[in-house]
Amino acid sequence: MARNDLSEATLGCLIGGAGPAGLGFLFNAIKRGALEQLAQAGTIIVDAGTELGAGKLGDYQIIANSVSDVFLDCLRDPLLAPILAPLQASPTFRHLKLNAQEAPALPIVGQLFQQAAGLILPWLERQYGIPTWRQTRITEVTCEGSSYVVWLEQAGAIRRVRTSSLVLNLGGKQTRSSFEESSQAMGLQLPQSASIDSSDSLLRLQPEALRQRYRARLKDGGPICVVGGSHSAFSALDNLASALHHDGLRELTLVHRSPIRLFYETAAEALAAGYDFDPLQDICPISKRVNRSGGLRYRAHEIGRQVLAGQAIGGTPVKVKTLHLDGSAERLASAQTLFDSAALLVQGMGYQPIVPELRCQDGRPLTLRTLRGGLDSDAAGSPLDQHGQRLKGLHLFGLGSGLAVDPRLGSEASFSGRIYGVWQFHNDASREALESVLERLDKPGVPFRPMASPVAEHA
Ligand SMILES: Cc1cc2nc3c(=O)[nH]c(=O)nc-3n(C[C@H](O)[C@H](O)[C@H](O)COP(=O)(O)OP(=O)(O)OC[C@H]3O[C@@H](n4cnc5c(N)ncnc54)[C@H](O)[C@@H]3O)c2cc1C
Repeated sequence: MARNDLSEATLGCLIGGAGPAGLGFLFNAIKRGALEQLAQAGTIIVDAGTELGAGKLGDYQIIANSVSDVFLDCLRDPLLAPILAPLQASPTFRHLKLNAQEAPALPIVGQLFQQAAGLILPWLERQYGIPTWRQTRITEVTCEGSSYVVWLEQAGAIRRVRTSSLVLNLGGKQTRSSFEESSQAMGLQLPQSASIDSSDSLLRLQPEALRQRYRARLKDGGPICVVGGSHSAFSALDNLASALHHDGLRELTLVHRSPIRLFYETAAEALAAGYDFDPLQDICPISKRVNRSGGLRYRAHEIGRQVLAGQAIGGTPVKVKTLHLDGSAERLASAQTLFDSAALLVQGMGYQPIVPELRCQDGRPLTLRTLRGGLDSDAAGSPLDQHGQRLKGLHLFGLGSGLAVDPRLGSEASFSGRIYGVWQFHNDASREALESVLERLDKPGVPFRPMASPVAEHA
């Protein structure tokens, strides 16, 4: 029978969430040769799931926004090579390698990172005694002086762990209240009775499940409306059109605030395609790419291009009516009418980080300050709390938290969002967090006290 253990072992680092972001941090630690230091200070990996590495990425029934080689590049390093050698025989790995310059389906990418995690995580435990606690949910975090007390729930038992650093990437969510807020920011009211779904849940449905879920909406006769201008919004249009055109769907509506932005390798390529862009705002000064950070790529680019040209999308007879909110009262009124009459509104924007309950030492709730598109964090992903205090030792950089663009790496001026991507998690997004964790380990405020494994505790 499991028992509660509130004895508080003390760790140097707890890595909460071993999806693409948490895994990126671990890969970076291996490449940087930091494992010895992490192991000596006491490090554990905690995830609520059983199959780790892919998080939700492999659930999305869409095509990636980068080519296979970008994902394979995350696994390419002399220090990773011996650990990942068995991947060479994996059909998933071979498929991605054979089609390195094509954008793969995300479920295949998910498989790749799940297989990579299946090799890396046991190796970390064998070689460095860094364990992975699966099916262990982080339920609460208390910020106490210079450390964090993390509450973990496993098989009905609760235990607490004190850690100097907490790398917390539990994924992102789209909530009705954030949809309400962003609609209000555009001057629109979400009707109380509106039927709303998030692109996050829609994109995880297989075609037949999607059809079953939304087919009845067609009978309603009202417009089916996707709100947003991101990769997710265009993927939602694509998946709705593919699943529902046999049931009579002929039109979707897209309500968006920013112009539809397409990615091009060069300005010449964009001009040749007849794409209208702003040479000052939309070109990255370093790479010279058009809409490098915010532009639609691959399949979503194709859908975006068809929408702009007024063509039917994705090989279906479905066309997309667009309503660009350009600040005019007339368009705003049309959008409100749409919202009021829609059979379905799909929230295709605005992820927020999933965070457990956060508290101060005295039990008062802590909230993380947000800025447009993510948390108000520094380059290491350390956020500010509601009082403007930097939460040193806490690092969030995955979906919903996001890091702002690093001007040294370049981006287009018109992009004000956050950078989320597996390659970034394995490289720039987790690098500063890792350096900051290592720096704290050099000067610990509390002595590290090793902990027993949860299996022993719960025996
Ligand atoms: C629709 C969509 C398409 C995308 N396409 C691409 C793409 O093509 N290319 C690309 O590079 N990026 C893409 N991204 C961005 C990003 O790479 C993915 O969203 C990725 O899944 C984010 O990884 P994550 O680790 O932040 O979160 P998640 O994938 O959600 O992983 C979170 C992990 O935390 C664990 N967890 C959750 N709650 C708890 C808890 N309480 N306690 C312990 N563990 C917990 C989960 O089990 C999971 O393992 C896409 C994002 C979206 C939304």
